[in-house]
Amino acid sequence: MSISMRIVLLGAPGSGKGTQSQRLVEAYRIPQVSTGDLLRDAVARKTELGLRAKVAMDAGKLVEDAIVLGMIRERLSRPDAARGFILDGFPRNIAQAQALSALLAELGTPLDAVVLLSVDTGVLFKRLSGRRICEECGRVFNIYTSPAGSPPHCDRCGDKPRLIQRLDDKEEVIAKRLEVYEAQTKPLVEHYRAAGLLRVIDADTDVDRVFAALTAAVGAPRT
Ligand code: AMP
Repeated sequence: MSISMRIVLLGAPGSGKGTQSQRLVEAYRIPQVSTGDLLRDAVARKTELGLRAKVAMDAGKLVEDAIVLGMIRERLSRPDAARGFILDGFPRNIAQAQALSALLAELGTPLDAVVLLSVDTGVLFKRLSGRRICEECGRVFNIYTSPAGSPPHCDRCGDKPRLIQRLDDKEEVIAKRLEVYEAQTKPLVEHYRAAGLLRVIDADTDVDRVFAALTAAVGAPRT
């Protein structure tokens, strides 16, 4: 019996893909592969690809497929992805989904499930505009929903590191990102439904409940 778990988390910006991925990493002991994180890292290191990607990212648009696919190919070939992975923020359009299935067919490791985190659009804007990130540990907070007392400081790192706002969480960029999701990423829902891989969960509730629904949808962690 295979002990791998290869999952795609699908959902609009702000639907909780990053938060739920981190929980899955702990439960399933497989890596989170976030193209947003890989791209932000390339931007921070000022690599050539990072500099090319930054313009699109700051505008809330998709980075060109060739850049993202190159990163995914390299990341999925690392040893820690052999038992599986959680794809967070990838694929983002039909061309990327097709490239992913070609890559996985080549590796002989097809996807197990694609889970759509379904959230009411009205909620997304507030979640994104309220999001703050600890610049030390990367934990995510929300000025509207975090328990009283957490922001303006990270309760793990103390008051030295700042809680920062991602440049693309500014209101004018959020609108563009949601528009891009509707136009380019949402068609993946039907794409994966037709492939028999799609599971839909209500992600409009608290983190623990969403996680319970998620593990029920993909199967209990295997050791
Ligand atoms: P995220 O952290 O997933 O919200 O991604 C932040 C930004 O990185 C997006 O708004 C895009 O500009 C870029 N990005 C992340 N993943 C992809 C992808 N799969 N394809 C193209 N651009 C991406």
